[in-house]
Amino acid sequence: MVVEWWLMRTPEELARRFREHGRKVTPQRERIFQILQGNESHPTAESVYAELVREMPTVSLKTVYQTLHELGDMGEISSLDLGTGSVRFDPNQAEHHHLVCTRCHIIRDLYLDISEVRIPIEQLGGFEAGVAEITFRGLCADCRAKGSDRVTDFRSDAGVNNKS
Ligand SMILES: [Zn+2]
Ligand SMILES: [Zn+2]
Repeated sequence: MVVEWWLMRTPEELARRFREHGRKVTPQRERIFQILQGNESHPTAESVYAELVREMPTVSLKTVYQTLHELGDMGEISSLDLGTGSVRFDPNQAEHHHLVCTRCHIIRDLYLDISEVRIPIEQLGGFEAGVAEITFRGLCADCRAKGSDRVTDFRSDAGVNNKS
């Protein structure tokens, strides 16, 4: 489901921006743009690759990494390290925060107004504070339903949440 405050360029816009930056837009890259479109799973490079390679068996993981990092450099997606053991890519460029499940490592977007939060000046020590990002850690509904004593098979590349 794509919520209305979700913010990302369309695959066509991304392709145009890519060309504007003097980069080649290959069919693989176009497909990566499509995979990212509306993707709320905060995928890893590996999970984007896993989806892509099903349709394009000759694609390399390196191409996926390169494309994701180029999109990151262009400010079109964010790369996040939320303590899940692998870098996650977030195409949602709307200001938002995250809920992270400490067991299965799914990540959900969270929209909070934290504009009222102020850092006491004596704690800043001359630091100019910029963007604040809040990460809540806990258990998702699925993991809560499984109970706390069950060992789950966490995979470090579980970037795509395939649960229904
Ligand atoms: Zn979970
Ligand atoms: Zn996000």
